[in-house]
Amino acid sequence: MHVHTTFSDGTFSPEEVVSYASKVGLHCIAVCDHDTVGGIRPSLEAGERCGVEVIPAVELTADKNGTEIHVLGFFIDWQDSALGQRLDELCRQRINRIHEMVAKLKKRRVNLDAEEVFKLSGKGSVGRLHLARVLYKKGYTSSVDEAFRRYIGNRGPCYAGRIDLTPEEAIDEIIKVKGIPALAHPGVMGRDRFIPSYVKHGLVGIEVYHTDHPPAMVRHYEEMAAAYSLLVTGGSDCHGLGKGRVLMGSTTVPYELVEKLKNARR
Ligand code: AMP
Ligand code: ZN
Ligand code: FE
Ligand code: FE
Repeated sequence: MHVHTTFSDGTFSPEEVVSYASKVGLHCIAVCDHDTVGGIRPSLEAGERCGVEVIPAVELTADKNGTEIHVLGFFIDWQDSALGQRLDELCRQRINRIHEMVAKLKKRRVNLDAEEVFKLSGKGSVGRLHLARVLYKKGYTSSVDEAFRRYIGNRGPCYAGRIDLTPEEAIDEIIKVKGIPALAHPGVMGRDRFIPSYVKHGLVGIEVYHTDHPPAMVRHYEEMAAAYSLLVTGGSDCHGLGKGRVLMGSTTVPYELVEKLKNARR
């Protein structure tokens, strides 16, 4: 399900995402770009042409006292204008954050122009993966991963947060547009202790299957899903070539889980 396009930090356009999905035999994908719905219309149109079902979705980045959480919203009313305004605001914060991180890097004699990062993100929402790719391209690090480890990872010296959206607000935003809120890759976030409060706040699903969840972790989140009556979601979280290799098709879920999400729609 969960994939990205060039409208956030993926390197495949919506058309490329859909045709790649078709090539690897996926019947359905969820376009979950970070804080933007810009890629949904072209993905839906490409999906029609290629016979791939596209779930209109989004991945919201939320933060509370430095605790970063990603909330997925499936089957959202992506044309809602209030949602659009909120997302525009979040994308502006993403731009400011890049400027902040570039300034912090400069203090460490890592010199780059924020415009280089914006050139890479183009019309999409800008993020750390774009910045990491510029750092790598300019030879400041020997890989994209090293850019996160040395500089801009969550505990890195050049990281900047400042996202004005709490996890609870993210859940609310998705519910407001009739979407199904699901916690993205909890194993990457490591904030299990907050899950009960998110459930109370209206969380419906949890991403059990994910590229970065090894089998023991999958079992752990399967148990959590059962304990809290959460719907199970999953996906490769493919970023095209953004993370070095194309992950699409490497993590799949049975279509039955998509049907359960559909049935949960209000
Ligand atoms: P942002 O949304 O700007 O906070 O950036 C977060 C995004 O960076 C995640 O969704 C991933 O796509 C990417 N990311 C985080 N850590 C790494 C890493 N170690 N290597 C590659 N990409 C990463
Ligand atoms: Zn991403
Ligand atoms: Fe994520
Ligand atoms: Fe993602």
